[in-house]
Amino acid sequence: MKVKTRFSPSPTGNLHVGGARTALYSWLFARRHGGQFVLRIEDTDLQRSHKNISDEIMDDMRWLHLDWDEGPYYQTKRLERYNAVIHQMLRDNSAYKCYCSKKRLDVVRKKQMATGQKPHYDGHCRERNEDNIKNTAYVVRFRNPDEGFVIFEDQIHGVIKFSNKELDDFIICRSDGLPTYNFCVVIDDLDMHITHVIRGADHINNTPRQINLLQALRAHIPTYAHVSMIFGSDGKKLSKRHGSIRVTQYKKEGYLPEALLNYLLRLGWSHGDQEIFSMNEMQTLFTLEAISKSPSTMNLKKLQWLNQKYINSLPPTYIAKNLQWHMEQANINIINGPCLEDLVTLFGKRCHTLKEIADTARFFYEEFNDYDLEAAKKYFFENLDVTRRLLRVVYTNLASIINWTLPEVRVAIHSSANDQLGGIRSLAMPLRVAITGSLQSPALDATIYTVGQQRSLTRINKALLYIQQHDY
Ligand code: GLU
Repeated sequence: MKVKTRFSPSPTGNLHVGGARTALYSWLFARRHGGQFVLRIEDTDLQRSHKNISDEIMDDMRWLHLDWDEGPYYQTKRLERYNAVIHQMLRDNSAYKCYCSKKRLDVVRKKQMATGQKPHYDGHCRERNEDNIKNTAYVVRFRNPDEGFVIFEDQIHGVIKFSNKELDDFIICRSDGLPTYNFCVVIDDLDMHITHVIRGADHINNTPRQINLLQALRAHIPTYAHVSMIFGSDGKKLSKRHGSIRVTQYKKEGYLPEALLNYLLRLGWSHGDQEIFSMNEMQTLFTLEAISKSPSTMNLKKLQWLNQKYINSLPPTYIAKNLQWHMEQANINIINGPCLEDLVTLFGKRCHTLKEIADTARFFYEEFNDYDLEAAKKYFFENLDVTRRLLRVVYTNLASIINWTLPEVRVAIHSSANDQLGGIRSLAMPLRVAITGSLQSPALDATIYTVGQQRSLTRINKALLYIQQHDY
C-alpha cells in the first residue's frame, strides 16, 4: 500500500514549533517512503477558525519547504459527505439521536461524581425509538461497543490498550448539525486513504474512539504514531514566552528554515549522535521508531548554533538572498555598500542569526552621527594624546595605499602601531570605534578594507574632529 500521511491543523492558532515538528515528521515519513503528503484544514469549529490563519499556516509551511501533494482540503467544504455518513450510521444503528437536555446531563454527571464514577454518558437515549421528538433538539451519538478493549500499536509508544467501558457514546454531530472533530477526522482519514497518522500525543485519547468508529464503518485502520510534547527550557508547557510563537517569528529573528527544520528534526528524533542533516539526509534516514517517547525540551542555544552552521555552509548566494530581506526590514539601502555575499563571509563566524548581521552591518552602508558613548569615552578619551597621534598616523598610512587590497590595509594598520605607545592594542580599539561607531565589528583589517578607502579616511577625520570638540 502506498504510504500516505497528512498534516491536519485547526486554523484556530498559528503554526508553532510543536505543529511544525509534527508536520515535518509526517512530511518526512511520506518522502522517505515515496508516498504522499496531504494537507487538511480542520476548520469545523466555526467560532474559533479563521481563514487568514489557514493561509498563514500554509505560508509558514512553504517557508519551511514542507510541500504537500494533495490539498488543502477544508473540512467545512465536506459537510455534505459527513452528513451522508451520519445518516447512514443512523440507519444501520451504529449511531443514534440523543435528546437529553443539558439539565439532565448535569444531574447524571453530578450523581456519577458523587458515587466516585468517572463522568460519562449513561446511554439514556440508546434504545429510544421515538424518531424526531417534536421540536426537541438532538445530537447524534456513536454507539460505542460496551465490552472489550481497543488495542493498537503506536509506532512510538508501543502497545496502547483502552477498555471500551471507559469510552462513552461520544457525540458525532452537534445539535447545530455540525459534525465533531473525532468524526470528521475518521471520515477524512478514510476517504483520503491515510495509511499513517502522525500527530501530537495530546490526541492519544481520541485514537480508541476513532478506531471504534472506523471499525463500525468496516474501514481499514491506519497506523498511529503520537509524537510527545515539547517543553520550554524551564520544563514547563510551551507558552508564547518559550517559543510557542508563530514559526515565522524565527524568520524575523534571523533563522534559516533549514536550521529550524534540522532543529525540529532533532527535537525528539535521533540518528546516532549526528546533529546536522541535510534535507536529503533527513529524507533518507527518518524512521518513526527512532522518535523519542519522552517529551523534548526547547534549547535556543542549540538552534543558534545550528543556524550559524547553516549560515556558514549553505551557498553564500542563498544566504545573501535571505539576508536581503533582513536588510530591507532594517531599512538599510544595500546599494551604498558591500555586496551581501561579502557580508556573509565577514560576519558568518561572529553572528548566529541573519538579523544580528543586518543589525551590526549598518555602518557599512550609512554614515553614523553618534558613537557608542561608552566606547568613545574609553577608547578616544582615556588615552587622549596617544589615540590622537595613532589615528593621525594610520590616516596617513591608509591614505598612501595606491592599490586598495586587504593585505595592503593590514600592512598599513600594523605599521601604524607603535610599541612605545602600547602597540596594536592602543590603536585597534580607537580605530574600530572611529570606523564603525561601536565595538561590534568583524576583524578590523577586513572591516576597513570593506568600508573602503575614502570612507575610512573620512571617518578617521571625523573621529579626530570629535575628539577635538568634546571633553570627557
Ligand atoms: N486538528 C488537530 C489539531 O490541530 C489535529 C488532529 C489530528 O491530527 O488528528 O490538533
